[in-house]
Amino acid sequence: MTTNSEWFTRAQAVIPGGVDSPVRSFRSVGGTPYTVVSGSGAYVTDVEGKTYIDFVQSYGASLLGHAHPSVVKALCDRAALGTTFGAPTQGEVLLAEAMTARVAGLEQVRLVSSGTEAVMSAVRLARGATKRSKILKFDGCYHGHSDALLVAGGSGVAQMGLPDSAGVTAGAVGDTIVAPYNVVPTLDETVAAVLVEPVAANMNLVAPVANFLQGLRAECDRVGALMIFDEVITGFRLAYGGAEEFFGVTPDIWCFGKVIGGGLPVGAFGGSRELLTNLAPLGPVYQAGTLSGNPLATAAGITVLGAMDRAAYEALTTKAQNFAAQLQQVIRDNGLYAIVPTQGSLLGLYLARSESAAPTNFDEAKVLCDNGLYRTFFHEMLSRGIAMAPGAYEIMFLSMAHSQEDLDATLRAAAEAARATANG
Ligand SMILES: *Cc1c(COP(=O)(O)O)cnc(C)c1O
Repeated sequence: MTTNSEWFTRAQAVIPGGVDSPVRSFRSVGGTPYTVVSGSGAYVTDVEGKTYIDFVQSYGASLLGHAHPSVVKALCDRAALGTTFGAPTQGEVLLAEAMTARVAGLEQVRLVSSGTEAVMSAVRLARGATKRSKILKFDGCYHGHSDALLVAGGSGVAQMGLPDSAGVTAGAVGDTIVAPYNVVPTLDETVAAVLVEPVAANMNLVAPVANFLQGLRAECDRVGALMIFDEVITGFRLAYGGAEEFFGVTPDIWCFGKVIGGGLPVGAFGGSRELLTNLAPLGPVYQAGTLSGNPLATAAGITVLGAMDRAAYEALTTKAQNFAAQLQQVIRDNGLYAIVPTQGSLLGLYLARSESAAPTNFDEAKVLCDNGLYRTFFHEMLSRGIAMAPGAYEIMFLSMAHSQEDLDATLRAAAEAARATANG
């Protein structure tokens, strides 16, 4: 019998910090990460044989739940036929058709291998098409780890970004402007594109206020800047047609990842046929990838999208909204104050000691995320078999596989965890 501790010690010897993505490290909550052996539906099981109800779901990449039988079968069938060729495959066409059929105005997509790659390439496309340099992003929105987008920026008015990470040069972020979320910035004709998470889901959950996305669309049109929806989380999760359908605002470029890979590495960016004509081999904007549109990944993605009709999205949304209301109430009934904001099937979780308003931007989110309560609550939940993301800035991900019994068990654990946190 091995332990999480033994595996994490071995991991730390050969992998920096023991993790291949820092969000998995438990740095912000303390303690030792569980090392996962397997997942099934709503559950994950670690090397100690302990099973958890999983609300991480690979940070949203898993929509049907872990090891869904139809996805497993599609992967096995596909693996037997070969997994990468360096030539066009049918799977790429089928996944691109499935995506463009669901999102109005999305006429073409280019498949890549991660969300980071999708956004990085979308920015290049926007700059190439507009022949402008500047891009604007919002404080607290995450767009992957490419240099130009790793900027924190400050609060208040839009300001020039400074590097958020060592190794990112001032030059790499010199054309990135950072503005506060939920305020329509004033743009000028040097701006190639504005990047936005239509629901901010990387500073816990911050919903767009009324007319923010509409106002941003109008401001982009006024100066000829392209509007980029980073739908790496919201895409094919928020609604059947994503954020455009949900909010009634149409961007010029969409970025996708997570859900469309069905648990394998995929990203995509796209827009109108005319705009995508700028991409190589048709146009001057270069973009490429050895494993892009990988047959295994497209097989999984097609299977997931195929399983999600409109009724499935409605069911997921109803389940998430009922659960959110109950979770908020059960925590408030047990000595802590909770805000559980929702947008469609996305839900956040803010904890406080006294009544607080739902955050509308990064500065407000920080106050609640940094109050230290989440770290205690997280461990109280984990010890009761509920796995949440090991960081207060993440949201909770429900999958199609979470049953009412799973959610009821989670609410019972949350009552005890809230009491323990309040008294701690
Ligand atoms: C996860 C995420 C990304 C980056 O995707 P990776 O696949 O981790 O590279 C980009 N944008 C948003 C909104 C994300 O949530």
